[in-house]
Amino acid sequence: MKEAGPLKRIALLGATGSIGDSALSVVSHFPERFAIVSMSAGSNLEKLLPAIAAHRPKVVSVTTREDAARVRREFPGVSVGFGAQGLVDVATLPEADVVLGGIVGSVGLAPAYEAVKLGKTLALANKETLVVAGEPLMAAARASGAAVLPVDSEHCALHQALRAGTHAEVKRLVLTASGGPFRTRDFATFPAITVDDALRHPTWKMGPKITIDSATMMNKGLEVIEARWLFDVPGPQIDVVLHPQSIVHSMVEFVDGSVLAQMSPNDMRFPILYALTYPDRIPTPLPGLNLTSLGNLEFFPMEPTRYPAVGLVYAALETGGSAPAVLNAANEIAVQAFLDGRIPYPAIVEMVARVLGRHRVVGVTSVADALEADAWARREAAAILPLLETSPRAATAPAFPA
Ligand code: NDP
Ligand code: MG
Repeated sequence: MKEAGPLKRIALLGATGSIGDSALSVVSHFPERFAIVSMSAGSNLEKLLPAIAAHRPKVVSVTTREDAARVRREFPGVSVGFGAQGLVDVATLPEADVVLGGIVGSVGLAPAYEAVKLGKTLALANKETLVVAGEPLMAAARASGAAVLPVDSEHCALHQALRAGTHAEVKRLVLTASGGPFRTRDFATFPAITVDDALRHPTWKMGPKITIDSATMMNKGLEVIEARWLFDVPGPQIDVVLHPQSIVHSMVEFVDGSVLAQMSPNDMRFPILYALTYPDRIPTPLPGLNLTSLGNLEFFPMEPTRYPAVGLVYAALETGGSAPAVLNAANEIAVQAFLDGRIPYPAIVEMVARVLGRHRVVGVTSVADALEADAWARREAAAILPLLETSPRAATAPAFPA
């Protein structure tokens, strides 16, 4: 049995989300190994306050000044910040060894980048950060010596399988995708998809944005870009295969024809534990896979017409520069508009295509460049939104008899 290593001190971004829940559960299982020294939330104080009471971080951040004042009143000994600076303060706390990026959206980029510049290990769930600014973020990590470790389950699988060979021996990466709730739904009925339909993910329980991204498979597209930057493998060497059971989390095919797959239960605590203990492995009390009761593990090709988002992402990756940042921001706006009931389901990807179509691509050599493209795309998406909106009258009109 290995000695318990030194205590790892964690800055947790997005403590009140789904990744936050899983991360706090892992930390609670191993109090001798992990401690939360800082944490951020958006506006969910109902979840944040008990998490502060349980984990006693030194520094906390929330979105608004008012909420920060409320948290301060409840916990006078805790330093509480807010807004963009609050997030950076959580991520750059000198005591923090690891920043666990569990915020959703490109708002997670700035704190992750500042932490990486300081040489802190970044355990990243927040894939949007790598989609928006993969190149400058990885360059900053190389310069400071910071490790960027994946938490996303597919990338955790790839990270593990890649340990079996050298970079030159890799033929391709194969990302698995459940296919989401509409894998077999009649394509003609897609305009009738409701928010509840799209939030019913077949295998994972996650936050709303990534759940919608999983339905459109924009999530898998974003993961292709994430893999491109994490593992320095070009887009054409990254494939997607449907695997409805979500047990094989991804695979690496090596040049000699060997394919290494990684399996584990579909519980994010496994990849979080891997990232927090890498390069070691420690025994876990979590129940593992029962191989003989798994049933069939199936693999299907992805139908590109069913999931047009994936094609858009490959094209944006090929174009490079500001295109991926623009794609990501347009998607964030579109997904929120769908969740708010403002646009129909097919309009999510249409919005992304329209914004990309109006964009003049520029080079991205810094995080500032990436954030400028992000801001442009948000403005553009907001301008296009009314054109795609479901007519409010049609959506809300009561069904009076004629
Ligand atoms: P959730 O929606 O469950 O949680 C998001 C977290 O981010 C919450 O803590 C939320 O705070 C916080 N947040 C949202 N907006 C802001 C903001 N503007 N400023 C500060 N904080 C903010 O998302 P998930 O946990 O599902 O996903 C988080 C990230 O991890 C995403 O990038 C996702 O793609 C990735 N990921 C998630 C997986 C999962 O299983 N959930 C799997 C693989 C990757 P609050 O709620 O307090 O407002
Ligand atoms: Mg994933």
